[in-house]
Amino acid sequence: MNLQGVSYVYKNEELSIEAFKEYRLNKGVVCKKCGSQHHYWLMSKQQFQCVDCRFRTTLRSGTVLQGSKLPYSYFFIAVNLLSKQGNRLTLDEFQKHTGHKYYEPLWEFLNKLKIKLDEQERSLILSTYSDILSKRFRLGLITDNTFPLKAERQLVHAEQPQLERVAAR
Ligand SMILES: [Zn+2]
Repeated sequence: MNLQGVSYVYKNEELSIEAFKEYRLNKGVVCKKCGSQHHYWLMSKQQFQCVDCRFRTTLRSGTVLQGSKLPYSYFFIAVNLLSKQGNRLTLDEFQKHTGHKYYEPLWEFLNKLKIKLDEQERSLILSTYSDILSKRFRLGLITDNTFPLKAERQLVHAEQPQLERVAAR
């Protein structure tokens, strides 16, 4: 199987941002100012805003991506590779999959993810991404043509059999 092909599915920055936002909402965003957990997404600022006190929380704030300037897509590429290879994943390989020029920011990034995200968290992150993909597919925003490789399409369609089973009942 072409592994780099699968990474291509995660290379879409817009989808990655959407999936990361969804992942955070699933986990629950807590306001640093008043402790409220009620937030809405402020599209124009690309930030969460607290319903109770209007305090804003950036998408990276309080997460493993805080302080990093690397694209969100790298996060999903890394998590996908980590879920397959575990902590044996090398920096060389991660670099190859991202196509990023510099070693150093990737090194710090990958080490942080290795330490902070356990198996359960990794699978939650990946299923959030695949939910977003399937949703877009159903809405016709992406098509099979978007993903030329079979392995990529399998990922997009990962959710479909389940849906069909529910419908058949
Ligand atoms: Zn608040």
